[in-house]
Amino acid sequence: MPTSSFTSASSVSSAVPCPVVESLDAILPEEPLLMMGAGPVPIPAAVAKANAIVINHLGGTMVKVIGQVKSMARYVFQTNSKWVLGVAGPGSAAMEMAISNLAWEGTRVLSIKNGFFSERMAEMGRRVGARVSTLDVADRSVASLEQVAEAIRRERPEIVTVVQGETSNTVWNYHLKEIAALAKAAGALVIVDAVCTLSTMPLEMDAWGIDAVITGGQKGLSSIPGVSLIAFSDAAWERVKGRTAPNAHWCLDASLAENFWHNAGYHYTAPVSGVLALHEALRLVCAETLEKRFARHLKCSLALQDGVAAMGLRLYTPEACRLNSVVGIEVPEGFSPADVCSHISRMHQVEISGSFGLPIVRVGQMGEQCREHNLFRTVHALGRTMVELGVKVDLPAGVAALERGLSGGR
Ligand SMILES: *Cc1c(COP(=O)(O)O)cnc(C)c1O
Repeated sequence: MPTSSFTSASSVSSAVPCPVVESLDAILPEEPLLMMGAGPVPIPAAVAKANAIVINHLGGTMVKVIGQVKSMARYVFQTNSKWVLGVAGPGSAAMEMAISNLAWEGTRVLSIKNGFFSERMAEMGRRVGARVSTLDVADRSVASLEQVAEAIRRERPEIVTVVQGETSNTVWNYHLKEIAALAKAAGALVIVDAVCTLSTMPLEMDAWGIDAVITGGQKGLSSIPGVSLIAFSDAAWERVKGRTAPNAHWCLDASLAENFWHNAGYHYTAPVSGVLALHEALRLVCAETLEKRFARHLKCSLALQDGVAAMGLRLYTPEACRLNSVVGIEVPEGFSPADVCSHISRMHQVEISGSFGLPIVRVGQMGEQCREHNLFRTVHALGRTMVELGVKVDLPAGVAALERGLSGGR
């Protein structure tokens, strides 16, 4: 008798068995951890709510959302350039969109390398075949303008890449405006990584002559990770349009992305929930205004730094080039960053970050992290962690200094 072509469901045994897994409720902590590391950061309720919605990625509603995202992004980037686009992907995807559209085989790129993230831009340049030279800057310092000018004279770059806030070693490139001017005067386009800093401190794309700015969602903007933004100047866009060889990264091809972000057409299915979340994050930035947001970030970060120092811990970066958006704190002798991070997370439900092999922990001051109640909880948790690990700190002095900083008595 021939075997029946019908088999009952119970007799089907799959070659790869169905795994036994736990539900998210069983995996996630009952009370969410306070996200005070180098990102992702806490998201406002309006962002979380938007992130729970799926709409058609094409059509009138999406077109309106995209239009508003672009106009709000122009305010946050401080640019009148038309060429604002979103990217489905991390901050690094926006970075790769900037590099891979503006650089190709043989392009001369000068990368000002302050650390882990600015090196990533150099690496992306190498991968598209560009001739990348780096200006290697010592840890915990910035390149002098003389060094930058000299490197530009020597390398004659078509593109200069620079990070505004090097999150890895918590260095702030406070010369950004002057570096852009030097590059511009030499005829180079300037790409700025503002993933960590955008909306936490001034950045004026047009006034400073920057040609491409990139940012992620999960840092200063306090949106979700996975949807990022990029803005090109007219000069950069001309270079994108004028290239002869197509970009090998199909998803990151700015000319294809233009279909969706400017012509209401299809490129790939946009991460609609993430775009809605980003819309709400940008709307909250606009409602607060950049001026007030910068002031909030500055006050909170300086108060945090005062609190950490007053309890007896050392800040990693000298004040002159210290990044306010992410604060680096030296880990006391005999402990590793992982010791501190795991203790504070387990015992105090506060997440902070280590840093790629450096002997520091990092506390973020980006977006929703800059709220007074989050700061008190974090300084307390960090101080208690030190006490519990057997490190001598003066926690009450730290909390008092934090309060003085926040109440304007610094
Ligand atoms: C976080 C960060 C990045 C990378 O962003 P991802 O979203 O992790 O890809 C790049 N540059 C800087 C300065 C950052 O802080």
